[in-house]
Amino acid sequence: MDSCIFCKIVAGQIPSSKVYEDDLVYAFNDINPLAPVHVLIIPKEHILASAADATEENAALIGHVFAVAAKLAKELGLDGGFRIVTNSGDDACQTVHHLHFHLLGGKKMSEDLA
Ligand code: AMP
Ligand code: ZN
Repeated sequence: MDSCIFCKIVAGQIPSSKVYEDDLVYAFNDINPLAPVHVLIIPKEHILASAADATEENAALIGHVFAVAAKLAKELGLDGGFRIVTNSGDDACQTVHHLHFHLLGGKKMSEDLA
């Protein structure tokens, strides 16, 4: 999608700090990190604006995102644990409308999820 900042990152039109890439997903460091490790994992294709659009057809892709997250967590030394967050819609303060998953770790996080 032409106007989407994350599509531009995948296309290399906006620079990013790449952490991982394969045929399906791209992972890069969040520009405004909220934890010592804050990686965004996104499907390369702009097929979903948010988790609200997910269907059974997307199950394999979303499962792959979680497998990549687990692999990155190991590689990045998140032995104490980590959090995976996806914001969907205004109430969740979603700002970029290209499905993405925040992988957060490297510190003891708040018990308060909301
Ligand atoms: P959300 O609020 O869940 O939509 O998350 C969007 C995330 O994208 C925020 O954590 C931003 O800091 C991050 N972000 C926005 N622009 C960039 C960029 N150019 N490079 C890396 N992260 C970005
Ligand atoms: Zn996009």
